[in-house]
Order: sequence, then structure tokens, then C-alpha cells
Amino acid sequence: GIILPPSFIKTIIENDLKSGKCNTVITRFPPEPNGYLHIGHAKAICINFGLAQEFGGRCHLRFDDTNPYKEEEEYVEAIKEDVKWLGFDWGKHLYYASDYFEKMYEFAIQLIKKGKAYVCDLTPEQIREYRGTLTEPGKESPYRNRSVEENLDLFKRMKAGEFEEGSRVLRAKIDMSSPNLNMRDPVMYRIIKKPHYRQGNKWNIYPTYDWAHCLEDSIEGITHSLCSLEFEDHRPLYDWFLEQLDNVHRPRQYEFARLNLTYTVLSKRKLIELVQGKYVSGWDDPRMPTIRGMRRRGYPPEAIRNFCTRIGISKSESIVDFALLEHCVREVLNKQCPRVMAVLNPLKVIIDNYPEEQCEELEAINNPEDLTMGTRKVPFTKEIYIEKEDFMENPPKKFFRLAPGREVRLRYAYFIKCVDVVKDEKTGEIKELHCTYDPATRGGNAPDGRKVKSTLHWVSVRHAINAEVRLYDNLFIKPDPLDVEEGEDFKSNLNPNSLKVLYSCKIEPSLAKAKPGERYQFERIGYFCVDKDSSENRLIFNRTVTLRDRWAK
Ligand code: ATP
Ligand code: MG
Ligand code: MG
Repeated sequence: GIILPPSFIKTIIENDLKSGKCNTVITRFPPEPNGYLHIGHAKAICINFGLAQEFGGRCHLRFDDTNPYKEEEEYVEAIKEDVKWLGFDWGKHLYYASDYFEKMYEFAIQLIKKGKAYVCDLTPEQIREYRGTLTEPGKESPYRNRSVEENLDLFKRMKAGEFEEGSRVLRAKIDMSSPNLNMRDPVMYRIIKKPHYRQGNKWNIYPTYDWAHCLEDSIEGITHSLCSLEFEDHRPLYDWFLEQLDNVHRPRQYEFARLNLTYTVLSKRKLIELVQGKYVSGWDDPRMPTIRGMRRRGYPPEAIRNFCTRIGISKSESIVDFALLEHCVREVLNKQCPRVMAVLNPLKVIIDNYPEEQCEELEAINNPEDLTMGTRKVPFTKEIYIEKEDFMENPPKKFFRLAPGREVRLRYAYFIKCVDVVKDEKTGEIKELHCTYDPATRGGNAPDGRKVKSTLHWVSVRHAINAEVRLYDNLFIKPDPLDVEEGEDFKSNLNPNSLKVLYSCKIEPSLAKAKPGERYQFERIGYFCVDKDSSENRLIFNRTVTLRDRWAK
């Protein structure tokens, strides 16, 4: 389980338990099945499931499926899968708001009978107009004083499907001059004729968020209804609805700040735009801030949970640095991932004095952070690949890697010294290097005590496996993608170099049978995971994160 840091919500829960206001904690995570979950939802999941766990209560997974225009079964299944993958378990507490439609309807009848709700025939535009603004009071609807009998009759006929979509709504009768716009006779039901993915054609009226949500919480006996800050102004309405009804459980709503992350967007609407406009390959594109994108990229679920714990819960809006998320990812991967050698941009090195047919199996440590992960054998031969950028013909002062006449160490192998550089006659491009090795330095140290300034990774040419490697970078070029020029939108800030694909990387042979989802550290380069499209004939790796940590503690 996870333990969230101290916060105002924790204090409230502790006090409620101490005072006996409640004797168990029941929270809920209430996604609308209209898209895939993103890291912002992960925050809400960690808060709701995390607090329930910590206090020995429970958290419901509830699909807030009250709008047939937007919801689909596909999303329900994907959301369940993502919540499970994140490591949370709702047990038998899986609920659907649409299962409460009958109860909600009866509660609405109760409100009408109490003279607290009325059927209104204004058009949606008129309703908006009549509502007024923050500085202007609203105007009462001419239908506001319909009799209870007329309201009951019209509402029942709305339910029966007698009226056109958009022709009538049921509204709460509260206060058209309230300073809170949400209290100016909010809509409770609208007519929608589109079939619902679970209810089919059973309903012709659908509840609005405000009417539905407090009832869902009340029906399920939720004690603490935790939501993001944009619902703060809706809380008076949440309370008003429940106050009007006889003998209902009264949950309390508390709000926390949404998660915002630099270099990405966290809004389903914007993410849909990226998918539909083919700016990314899909919801699970490894550059997407979706749970499935991050999963495919190689982020471990515990890293996301740790991240959510680190950012904590507060009431003030802030933007979290993406580098913190990457830091949390490295922290977990560093402990878990076997190290392997892979060369992304290969340069061939021929070791002139190494016997032609010889092959040595050198012992390599799988993870210096965890010696229980053991060792493996890596083949060494006369021809190896090193990284192009590990050689410079005319090195500047601070370049300590391989150069003509210079000696370096090959990881787990020998010291080698560059004796010749072979270039393409036409282009001048370096084609291969010739080196000599010192047999006395096997294992990486010279008996005479001489030192070298760097250690390079390498792969035996004869044993190398070819692989495709996808290098990902930030999806947007600006920390705040919504910061745009007049007339542009957030897509103008997309990073044109967010994906770079290398097709002839050389990987050590121990990875020949690497399976999708497996994660590795490529020594000196970064963390990589095997992509879901990878197969034995065509290995594909995604760069999860580089080794260099930009997070300033
Ligand atoms: P979006 O704004 O991306 O469309 P949403 O809020 O409409 O998301 P829901 O399915 O209604 O999506 O969200 C389920 C829960 O997740 C809500 O309680 C919501 O407050 C919470 N949530 C959504 N986005 C964030 C975020 N960025 N940070 C924290 N919680 C979030
Ligand atoms: Mg929504
Ligand atoms: Mg929203």
C-alpha cells in the first residue's frame, strides 16, 4: 500500500474517526468512461485508494456514466485495467452510476412534490441568458411557478419519451439571485434520445453531474467525497440537494488541487485531439501522459505511486516539474533493472593483436545495486562495436574517451589503444578503428598500475543482435503547452523531435529473447523497455528515461 504525506484531508479524516463522526472511511474514484486515464487521474486514484487503505476503509471504483453521448464499454474495460495495473484493488466494490437511474428518478419526484423542482421549457440558450452573470442577478423562468401536478405530469412524460431532445429540462428551484451561479436553478435532467451503452433505450432523460454525483455518493455511503478544486463552487449545490431529501446519508465533499505537469497536457479533450489528429500513434503512444502510454514507455507502477506520494495533496494549484516524475522512475528502475550493453550508434573497432577465431566469455554483473541479481557471460571477440560518440579524432581538452593514441577500458574486458582510423575516401566519414589490446589487463586493471580515464560499453560484432530503438523526448517544446501566440492553439507547441528512431542498434546476445514489457538499463545510456510490437525477429526498445537526472532536490 501507499502512505500519503500529512495533508488537510488526512487531518479531517483523523478527526472524523476520533470524534466518531464516522467509524470507517469510504472513498470513491469516479471516472467517466469517456476516455483513457492519465497521470492526473493517477493522483486522484492514489489519494482515494491510498487514504482508504491507510485508515482501514475502502474505496469504490464507480463509473460516472450519466451521458450516453460520450461513454463506451471500451473505456470501462481500459479504466479497470489501468487502475489494477497501478496496483489498486476495489474488491467487490465496483459500481455504475447508471444503476442508480431509477433511484435518482424517485428522488427527483420527491423534490418536485416538495415544490423544489420544476419542468422548464426555455431553450438551452435562454436558460444561459436567464442565468445572469457574476455581476448581474439571474431572471426567473416563466415556467418556475408551475403547479406540482403539472410538473409531475410533464416530468413523467419526459421520462416516457414524449418530448423532443432539448425541448424541456427539470430544474431545481433554488435562487436566481444567488451569488453562486451554480445555485441559480441548475438543471437536473435533460432529454437525451441516444441509447446508453449499458441501459440501451430504457431512459429518455439523463441526470446532470451535480444532481447525480451527490446521490451516487449518498447511495454508496461514501464518507469523504474527494474531488478536484474546480468542484469547490459546486459544493453548496451538493449539500443543498441532499438537504432537501428525506433520510439520506450525507457525505462531505472536499477538494484538492489537480495535478498539472510541465511539457504535457492533462485534459481528456486535448488528448483526444492529439490521437484523432494523429499527432501521436494512439492512446498508448509512449509520449502520452496516459497510464497506458507511460506503461508502454516502461514506467513502473510503483514509480507513479511514489510520484503521487511525493507531490502530496494540497489546495493550491501548481505545476509539477516533469523531471520529478522522471526522477521517481529512475529511482525504481535503478534498483530493478538488469544492466546490459547496447550500442545505439555503432562504430566498428578491430583489435589487431587479438586472435582471429578466439571468443572469451567474460563475466558481467547484472546489477551493482543488487548483487543477488547475479552475473552473466558476455562474449568478447576481435571485432566489436563501440558508440560513435565515444571516439573523437581531434578531441578537445575535456574529452576523455577514445582518441588516436589513447588508451581506454572496455567494460568487463581489456584496455585498448587506438592505433589507426579508417575513413571513407569520398565522404571522409570514419568507417572503423584499429586498436591493440593489452592481454594483461583482463578484467579491467593493469598490473603495472597505469590508469585510464574512461570505460566504454561495447558489443561483439559477431554476436550482436540488431534492434530498433525509439528515443522519446518531451511531447511539447514549452513547459506550459497552453502558452501560445494569438490565433494558435496548444498543438503549435508540439515538439517535432519528440520521437527519434534508430534502426541499427547493436545489443548484447543475452537479450535475444527479451519479451515485451521487460526493462533494462543500457549501460551509460539510459533505461529501456521492450515495446509491445517487438518480436524475436524484430527487437524494438523504447527509451523510458535517460540516466541523467535533471531533478534538483
Ligand atoms: P479531464 O478533465 O481530463 O477530462 P475529468 O475530470 O473530466 O478529466 P473524470 O473521469 O471525471 O475526468 O475524472 C475522474 C476523477 O479524476 C475526478 O474526481 C477528477 O477530479 C479526477 N481528476 C481528473 N483529472 C485530474 C488531475 N489532473 N489531477 C487530479 N485529479 C484529477
Ligand atoms: Mg469529465
Ligand atoms: Mg474535466
